[in-house]
Amino acid sequence: MMKAKCGYSTVRALLVGLLLLSQQGVHAAMQVVTTTSDLKSLVEAVGGPHVTVTSLVPAGSEAEEYAPRPQDIDRLRAADMVVRIGLDYDLWLDRLLRQTGRRALARGGEAYVDASNAIVLLEVKGGGVGGGGHAHGVGNPHYWLDPNNAAVITGNVVEALARLDPGNAKFYERQRNEFLARLDERIKQWASRLAPLAGKPLITYHNNWPYLARRFRLNFIGTLEPRPGVAPSAAELARLIKRMQAEKVAVIVRHPQEPSRDVDFLARKTGARVAVLAASVGDLPQAQDYFSLFDTNVAALLAAFGEPTP
Ligand SMILES: [Zn+2]
Repeated sequence: MMKAKCGYSTVRALLVGLLLLSQQGVHAAMQVVTTTSDLKSLVEAVGGPHVTVTSLVPAGSEAEEYAPRPQDIDRLRAADMVVRIGLDYDLWLDRLLRQTGRRALARGGEAYVDASNAIVLLEVKGGGVGGGGHAHGVGNPHYWLDPNNAAVITGNVVEALARLDPGNAKFYERQRNEFLARLDERIKQWASRLAPLAGKPLITYHNNWPYLARRFRLNFIGTLEPRPGVAPSAAELARLIKRMQAEKVAVIVRHPQEPSRDVDFLARKTGARVAVLAASVGDLPQAQDYFSLFDTNVAALLAAFGEPTP
């Protein structure tokens, strides 16, 4: 008899367990796929425990040169929502979304988020890439590097999260407000730390930094790349050396995935220092989320200009 009773309670416990599991299943975390690590960090900041986020471009890779992998389609097939940088930055996503064949994830679909929606773009000009390289054709796409733009990006994300998961809409809105309040404090700190660099000329390998520059009054006067994604010729490097000497450029910026050869050559010829900055979360080991991305870059810029770093 005892044995039978034990058997019954075991079965009952199992059934209760299964019921609980299925109930949890209903409230399982939203599976969000982003194109980049920066968007992943921002979605995690507002989604908290209610989201599981995967970035298609692995941290430390070049999103603008990304070649999609077969597992990306599987990830999109399983996704509740997709978030992209948009503009000409992650055009490769369009083909993946077509191959995935899910209406909700297609442009304009309820689970599709273009984070650039309502961003005030810089360097808007007509025309495409032309002559190779990757496009900055519809405006500079590196807009997440102005931390003020996180308000627009997370606004787009939270609108979609609330639509798809209305039960947690209040939570997402509260998380976003708290995140933006913390970010505001940090933006003030970063601005005061970077204040001594205001107006000092610097150049960069790729044109990643206009949004960062506008926010913190940094003075990028040129790029090594004559066009986005195109390496400089010897003649262009020679012209840059003259210009750097004439305008007393003391710092050259590149990010870790960019070739160091031409940057180091200019540094040797002009005595300028090189600052390696993270253009995205995960580009450098210290830049693990959206806050530390800016912490890392602020510290690297101060160090390159010989300013004390606290
Ligand atoms: Zn670019």
